[in-house]
Amino acid sequence: MYMKTAEDMQVVVLMGGLGTRLGEYTKECPKPLVEVEGKPFFDYSLKLFIHHGFRKFLFLIGYRAEMIEEYYGDGSKLGISISYCYDGKELLGTGGAVRRAYRLLEDDFLLVYGDSFMDIDYEETMYRYFEGKSRGMRALMTVLKNGNRFDRSNVIMDGSEIRLYDKMNMTPEMDYIDYGVCAYEKSLFRDEYLKDMVDIPADGETNGAGMVNVKFDIALIQNRLSIEKKIAAHIVTKRFYEIGSPASLNEFRGYVRHRFNEKHPAVFLDRDGVLNEIVFNDDIEQMDSPQKPEQFRAFPEAAKAIKKIRDKGYYVFLATNQPGAAKGKCRLKTLYDINTMFAEQMAENGADIDAVFMCPHYPKKSENTKEDFLIKTCDCRKPKPGLLLKPADIYNIDYENSYMIGDSFTDIVAGQAAGVRTIFIGELKCDACKKLCDTEPDHIVHDVLEAAWLVGKQDI
Ligand SMILES: [Mg+2]
Repeated sequence: MYMKTAEDMQVVVLMGGLGTRLGEYTKECPKPLVEVEGKPFFDYSLKLFIHHGFRKFLFLIGYRAEMIEEYYGDGSKLGISISYCYDGKELLGTGGAVRRAYRLLEDDFLLVYGDSFMDIDYEETMYRYFEGKSRGMRALMTVLKNGNRFDRSNVIMDGSEIRLYDKMNMTPEMDYIDYGVCAYEKSLFRDEYLKDMVDIPADGETNGAGMVNVKFDIALIQNRLSIEKKIAAHIVTKRFYEIGSPASLNEFRGYVRHRFNEKHPAVFLDRDGVLNEIVFNDDIEQMDSPQKPEQFRAFPEAAKAIKKIRDKGYYVFLATNQPGAAKGKCRLKTLYDINTMFAEQMAENGADIDAVFMCPHYPKKSENTKEDFLIKTCDCRKPKPGLLLKPADIYNIDYENSYMIGDSFTDIVAGQAAGVRTIFIGELKCDACKKLCDTEPDHIVHDVLEAAWLVGKQDI
């Protein structure tokens, strides 16, 4: 399977909007530069992209364009490269703006909005896009189960695939919403694909790649791709923030204060054996992590425990080793599907998970391994502390008061290496455990609910 890494993937950012609903804020200033807690809004998004490994950016700018270019320059100060494409006099809509920049686009690119803060697992986005391409797809859309919370839903899902996206004709069946992060093949913006949907004049101003500039909404492409079954999905479970109106800008300010300016402790939860059952795997005749969605069973107390931890003001992160795909027992897609299913289940029960950190790697290839890029000696496979430490640059984590909760010695060792308190679930079987840890967990409990109860009780 052909796949690019984030480092090699171009991120195209739509930044041309006038931001008229923001009134005074955007009178002299383009939306991406509106000040939020002492920094331009887009700085927060850029921080996320850089954290996830992206290095190549193309900004599509229009309103007050020169201010954006002057502020970010060529990106070298941030260790990234930024190119720019200026909108023309006539506003061309989202699709038209991308087509206008055609000569600067790479064959595959991520498309995001400069007025949104989209905190998702971009590694999963990248994988799902290229995995989709290996099945003949040409784009990817991130979607969120919405239930009309944020805006009107416009997507019907069929398991992990999109059945229909249509923002013009919404139906009650639609319960997902497009989240604002997409990936595309550049060729979708050529006349060959567009001509049945958009009136392309025979002549007029061109985009420098021999195509006439034309106004259209990118939703047209998305809708058609969904009908053709050529658009892959990445289901996300966390809400997005945008600064379209003074109210939403204000809401984002509060979020920034909480997330970046104040320190908060976190609870890192191992998954298998802590939140869900371990299952019997016929192939290896052993108890094992679930490798199929239908094998996955969350413990009845999982949601309650997560809720309890959240209510105490802790972040809830999963920190899980899942070497199943690297060992050739399943595909990485399935491992992502299982995590998504679980996170959605928990969210439906009011037990939101802030992020899932998964290590899918394994150092040794086996004869069934199909996704060779998973074979490596990484920094994230527990007992190494990478899964716990990596989020430090995008969350302001109070490690000293944080916890790792797990049912195996590797969880405890990882927690100790990251400098957090440790809670072991189960029986310490386990002179071996002590030897392997070279030290003991801070607490030993029976189940995750008991662990959740202990969190924050430092005098025990
Ligand atoms: Mg476990």
